[in-house]
Amino acid sequence: MQMPSTSSALPAGTAPARGSALRTWGPLALILVLAALPLLPLPDFWIIQLNYIGIYVLPVLGLVLLTGVAGLTSFGQAAFVGIGAYTSAVLTTQAGFSPWITLFIGLAITAGSALVIGAITLRMSGHFLPLATIAWGLSLYYLMGNLQTLGKYDGILGVPGLELFGLELGQQRVFYVLVWTFAILAAFAVIRLLDSRTGRAIRALSGGSQMAEAMGVSTLRHKIGIFVLAACLASISGWLFAHFQRTVNPSPFGLKMGIEYLFMAVLGGAGHVWGAIAGAGVVKLMEDQLQVLLPMLIGTSGSYEVIVFGILLVLVLKYLPSGLWDFVDRRLPRRLRMRDWDAAPPLPERARPAAGEVVLQVEAVRKTFGGLVAVNDISFDIRAGEIKGLIGPNGAGKSTTFNLITGLLSLSGGAVKFRGEAISGLPSRQIARRGIARTFQHVKLIPDMTVLENVALGAHLRGHKGSFAAMLRTDRAEERQLMREAERQLRRVGMGEYLHELAGNLAMGQQRLLEIARALCADPALLLLDEPAAGLRHKEKQALADVLRQLRSEGLSILLVEHDMGLVMDVCDRMVVMEFGTYLMEGTPAEVQQSPAVRAAYLGTEH
Ligand code: ADP
Ligand code: MG
Repeated sequence: MQMPSTSSALPAGTAPARGSALRTWGPLALILVLAALPLLPLPDFWIIQLNYIGIYVLPVLGLVLLTGVAGLTSFGQAAFVGIGAYTSAVLTTQAGFSPWITLFIGLAITAGSALVIGAITLRMSGHFLPLATIAWGLSLYYLMGNLQTLGKYDGILGVPGLELFGLELGQQRVFYVLVWTFAILAAFAVIRLLDSRTGRAIRALSGGSQMAEAMGVSTLRHKIGIFVLAACLASISGWLFAHFQRTVNPSPFGLKMGIEYLFMAVLGGAGHVWGAIAGAGVVKLMEDQLQVLLPMLIGTSGSYEVIVFGILLVLVLKYLPSGLWDFVDRRLPRRLRMRDWDAAPPLPERARPAAGEVVLQVEAVRKTFGGLVAVNDISFDIRAGEIKGLIGPNGAGKSTTFNLITGLLSLSGGAVKFRGEAISGLPSRQIARRGIARTFQHVKLIPDMTVLENVALGAHLRGHKGSFAAMLRTDRAEERQLMREAERQLRRVGMGEYLHELAGNLAMGQQRLLEIARALCADPALLLLDEPAAGLRHKEKQALADVLRQLRSEGLSILLVEHDMGLVMDVCDRMVVMEFGTYLMEGTPAEVQQSPAVRAAYLGTEH
């Protein structure tokens, strides 16, 4: 690592290697086309269809965030559309409110209910969220259908149209401008959100919570955040819908529509913002055609298009699991991040412990899995500026010890102190905040994010800007600082040439180096490395050893689990040996090498 800067073959991070003009101008072209449509002599029918599509784009954008990016499936989007629609319909018809005020009242009610539902269900894992959103969607549907004030299943008639400065927005060309302004603004807000500190945390959600939490991300807060945001987009859609149709009834907000939104997201490409527009457009247009075509083919009328959608959904999931837009997206040149962070001021660093200070105290920690004692009362200390090896045959309990120290697993007994403070029992993001960073034996990164972005996630706790700052782009100064730090740490481990590569394309050894750079981005006082040299070539291992020695000279403490004995003996000041969960001995590399007990236990099984 420590690559001399001249050896970097590529001027890494500079201008895009491949042209990304299409990516830059594509969305602009789309907007121009959309803007030109109402000026063309299109029949009103088509303008109305486009208005419906724009209205559908909003809840589907929410699903892009929730399902496509974060991996959370919600059938409840239609119910949130319903809240927005009914709130505005009731208050405008029965209390004489202006629709421009009811928009915000609807948003507040939606956000409140999403917050409550999200806070309850997003704590649970697996299929609870989809099930809970189905239950929520159904109960709201029956509530809307049975409440007298909401007009039961007949709904509310005579909802006023929208007016702006005395201008009737109607249902056609003027309304079109309003709908698509909302849709495009929302699309850009989501794109901007995803390309930010918060966005990286959101993109880390689909890979499970362990890595994100170890980077200091509150996964629950971020899940609730996007659930509420998705609900708010749905609520705006409902408001538009009510004042577009001038009437509301429960059927467009039922479970069938909730499934249809999900279908739009999946068909369009749930991982892509532009997929929401593609999906909403294709489904709406297809639905219209099928409603005309199918009765002609079958001879009777009914909602047969649902059956066709069902078959299509299965086909899409099988043959085009990433959706229509992904098909386009893969053919577009990748857009590379503009290098704009060279002049950014460095991030502040934490006060380092004094040399020789005891940084970590592991006191008789214990972990049992059922009857198996994976870690059996292990104790050791680590001092500032010390590299301590933790060795032992496979299954000795080294990774489990890591997980106990970092709060990934709960202790069955014992205690852990960091810089004099008890940290046992704290959630792993709190432990990360105190200055412990780690890598994982089984690499955990976000494959479809660049190396630079993955590493910047490590600096999550050193930034503060949230979603709104990201959407309004007031986070750019901080973002430059984060990128500068990410690049600095990547260069330090010799990965300066791969800044813009997708992390999923890296070789295993490089993925490990990425994890080290990501951990260093947290500016830790203690670094825990779980088999960092696995998959590295001899030269890379030597370079890694140099990096570790340099980190030690900077006052960092390192706990190193590694099977390459040459490397461990070379860099460690002291080492702890474990076997079958129990403590065998501690000593200098020479002492450990000479110990007959270690030879018998460790070398016996390894060689
Ligand atoms: P090492 O990292 O030293 O190779 P580990 O800490 O991964 O060893 O594992 C120690 C022992 O604990 C092994 O026998 C392993 O099978 C067991 N173990 C680890 N994690 C779990 C778990 N989550 N549930 C049950 N057993 C586990
Ligand atoms: Mg292990």
